[in-house]
Amino acid sequence: MRDHDPVIPSVSEGSGARVVARSSCLPPAQVPRSARDDKLIVCVDLNGVLDAYGGWQGPEHWDPPREGAAEFLGSLREHGFRVVIFTTRFADDAKRWLVEHDLLQYVDEVTDRKPAAHVFVDDRAVCFRGDFDATLNDVLSFSAHWENQGVIPSREDGEESPAENVLAP
Ligand SMILES: [Mg+2]
Repeated sequence: MRDHDPVIPSVSEGSGARVVARSSCLPPAQVPRSARDDKLIVCVDLNGVLDAYGGWQGPEHWDPPREGAAEFLGSLREHGFRVVIFTTRFADDAKRWLVEHDLLQYVDEVTDRKPAAHVFVDDRAVCFRGDFDATLNDVLSFSAHWENQGVIPSREDGEESPAENVLAP
C-alpha cells in the first residue's frame, strides 16, 4: 500500500464495532467504512492532537507526543476502529515520528492528503480541544446531524426511510 492510496468507503456488511445509520437505501458515501477491513475509520490529526504542538516552527521541528496520546490511539483500536493518521506533514516523516515514539503500533495507515486549511467544515468532524477522554467519548457517541433527524433520503425512490441509528460500541 502506498501512502497516497485513498481510503475507499465501503457499504459491505461486517463485524465492525458499531453500526451507524445503516440502511439498505444508503448511498455508499454515507457509510464510511474501510474497504480493506470493513471497520469504521477514525482519522486523527498529528500536530495539535497527538503532539504537544506549540505552533509551526519549520519542517524539521517535531514536538513530543501529548500525554495520553498512546492510550487514546490504543482505545480507538480496542473499540474496533481503523485508525488513520491524516496530516499536512509528509507521510514518511510522520511515520518516523510515530515509530520514534512507539505509536505506529496503534495506527493502520498514514496519509498526508490533508490540505493545510484554516478550518475544516465537516458534518463528520469531532473537534479536539486538548482532552483525549472527552474526544474518545465524542467519537464513540458521534452521529452526524442528519443522522439525528431519524430519516435518510432514499437513493432509489426519493422517499425517506427511517434511519437504523447508532448501536453503541
Ligand atoms: Mg493540526
